[in-house]
Parts: sequence; C-alpha cells; structure tokens
Amino acid sequence: MPKFDKHFRMTESDAIEYARNRLPGFKGSNDLSCKEIGDGNINYIFRIEDLITGHSVVIKHADERTRSSGRPLDTDRNRIEAEILRLEREYAPGLVPEIYDYDPVMRCLVMEDLSDHRILRQELLAHRTFPRLAEDVSDFIVSTTLPTLDVVLHPSRKKELVQRYSNPQLCDITERLVYTNPYTNAAGDNKVFPPNLEFVKKELYENSELHLEVAKLKYGFMNNSQALIHGDLHSGSIFVKPNSTKVIDPEFAFFGPIGYDLGNVIGNLCFAWANAFATMESGQERDCYIAWVETTIRDLVDLFQKKFLERFPAVVTDRMASTDGYLEWFLTGILEDAAGTAGLEMIRRTVGVAQVKDLTSIEDSEARIFAERLVIMAGKSFILLRKDFRKSLFIVSTLNEVLSQMRI
Ligand code: ADP
Ligand code: MG
Repeated sequence: MPKFDKHFRMTESDAIEYARNRLPGFKGSNDLSCKEIGDGNINYIFRIEDLITGHSVVIKHADERTRSSGRPLDTDRNRIEAEILRLEREYAPGLVPEIYDYDPVMRCLVMEDLSDHRILRQELLAHRTFPRLAEDVSDFIVSTTLPTLDVVLHPSRKKELVQRYSNPQLCDITERLVYTNPYTNAAGDNKVFPPNLEFVKKELYENSELHLEVAKLKYGFMNNSQALIHGDLHSGSIFVKPNSTKVIDPEFAFFGPIGYDLGNVIGNLCFAWANAFATMESGQERDCYIAWVETTIRDLVDLFQKKFLERFPAVVTDRMASTDGYLEWFLTGILEDAAGTAGLEMIRRTVGVAQVKDLTSIEDSEARIFAERLVIMAGKSFILLRKDFRKSLFIVSTLNEVLSQMRI
C-alpha cells in the first residue's frame, strides 16, 4: 500500500516525502528542507521550503495522540480546523491564513506560511505594541460570528452547522480545564506557584460564591449555541506583524457564546498588562506600554460594539429580532459573557494545567507572586461583577482598582 494511504505520525523526513509526492508546488523537488516548528500542546507543525525557489508552506499534522501529553484525541479536530479556516476566510478575508489543501487520511492541513509574522504572546512578552490589533481582532470576531447567528442564518442551515461543528472532545477539554479544574483541582494537575498555594486555596478552592458564578458561566458555554466561535482565541493563536494580523488554530471552534472569544482576547491582554507591572522598571517606557495595552482593551470592546451595531441591521433576517432594544439587549449579554470569560481565562492560565509565559517567565519570585495574585483577584472581579460590564472602561478600571487595593 502506498505510504500515505493510511494515517501514521509523520516525522520531518516523512513530511518532505509527503510534500514531494502530494503537494503540487513541490512535486519532484530534490531540495526541500523541513523543520517541525510546533510550540503548541496538540499538533505537529512542519514548515517545508524549497531551497531553490524559496516556495514554502506549513503542514499542520494531527496525530491520534497529543504532542505534549500523549493523551488520545480524536483526529477529526483537524477536519474541523480545515473547514473552519476556509469558512473564516470567507467571512474575514485577510485575517486568516490561506488553506491550500486538506488530506483527511493523513490529517494534514496545508496552509500559507506565516513565518514573516510573529506570535502575539511572544511580542507582548517583548513589550512590543501593535496599533492595528484592536481594529483587526474586533473585525475578526464580528465578521466570523455575525453571519452564523440564529437570527441571520436560515434556521435549518444553522442547526445543520451546529451539528457539524459540535466538537465534543475539544469542548470537553474546555469544560474541564477552564470551567472546573482551576476551582477544584479535580484532576490533581493544577500547577500552582508554591508560594501562592494558601492564597489559591482560600480565593479559589474554598469560595462557594465564585463556584456558583463559574457554574452558571459553564452552563452558558455548554448550552448557548449563539454563533460559530473560534474557541481558543488567546494571544498564542494570533499572528502579527506591524501591518497585518492573522488568526490561526481554530480547532476548538464550535457554536458557543460570542463573548467567549472576546473575553479570551481581553484576558490575554490582561496578562500582558500584569507582566509589564512585574517585569518593567517604572518609568516612561512602562507607562507607554501599559497605556497601549489599556487603550487596546478599550478599543477592542468599543470597536466590537460599534461594528456589531452597524452591521447587524443589514444581515438580520428574523423579524422579531429587528424590534427596538433587541440589539442592545443582545450586546449586553455578549459583554457579560466576555467579562466572565476574561476572568476564567486569567484564573485558569495562572493555576491550571495550561499556563502562560506572561506569568511563568517572571524571574523575580516576589514579582511573580504579586502578578499572579493580581491576575487572580482581577479575574474574580470580572466573573463576579460581569453584569456591570456595559462600557469598555469597566475592564481597565477594575484592573486598576484591584492593583491599588493590593498595593495598600
Ligand atoms: P496547536 O494546535 O498544536 O496549538 P498551532 O496551530 O497553535 O498548534 O501552531 C503551533 C505553532 O506553529 C504556532 O505557535 C506557530 O509558531 C507555528 N505555526 C502554526 N501555523 C503556522 C503558519 N501557518 N505559518 C507559520 N507558523 C505557523
Ligand atoms: Mg495553539
């Protein structure tokens, strides 16, 4: 049987052979180089380059086991990612990579090489700023979610899509890692920074008021098939260069609450904010960087609302949804979910199994203790006070309030 007719986990040399045999741009070429450049937990990412022509692509390859933990995970995630990227590119051209090919046997997604971009999280760690970020990310979220609302899509098409992208295994990961384990240590794999153990126990594990609100948000995540969402829109899923933004890695996509995407971005910008306080010397450079992060959070929310309000009337098909006040009510619900999600993301990435470099790379132990407590307390406030999120200022003012309380 020819080599690529049955799925197996490819190595770099298999990927070269694959490209030479299967991909039109590389057929027969003898000067291909390949490097596995994945830094995520789940898949293998091969960058293939023809050293003579300079032509390059990226192959995202899914194995039956995840890259970091080796746990089994349905390779159908790769099909979902390929289809969603194509859909997203239709809805938000220019903001996602181009897909050249999808191979359902080898679970290979062949896409545009974005090596001229950088992962946003790395750039934020270097305290670099990106003036287009709020504009582009708000555009991505509105453009990809608005067309998939029940009040926009034909009802039977909507139900068909909800079924097609129900994504049970990846949703199960989110339900455990975001909505359960950080508050219970149910799986015993929370990674709490040891000096913060007592703090986490008191503030997260033993707080029934917080548990109730998280439980309500979890129910919303499981039951609100509002729109097609990316499902994992953290700063590691956003590629940037000064004049371009690309969103990658939608394998967690499913029909869920729009606020989950918006809140995820906000939560990750809050990590950048906390990292700056913990690692930058006080002075003008830090003030400028923090001002940019705060403005970006506010612009993201303002632009999201503005674009949603502007574009909704042109696409809504449901007559009742055109009633005065409906759209405002709808947006209020999204903001509430977004504040809740930002808080959940901040907490789970601080104490849960999948952590972020924004915190773990803080070398000074006292600074890390402080930054983690700040993030946890702000995250709690976002969850508990989420109904107050009406204006973009809410996030930034809550962050600063928590900061000043902790400094007393
Ligand atoms: P995972 O599903 O394992 O999280 P990602 O899609 O997040 O994988 O990709 C992991 C890494 O691979 C990214 O952080 C990025 O460095 C690199 N990568 C992914 N897609 C591309 C691409 N199209 N072009 C260049 N590099 C990419
Ligand atoms: Mg990833």
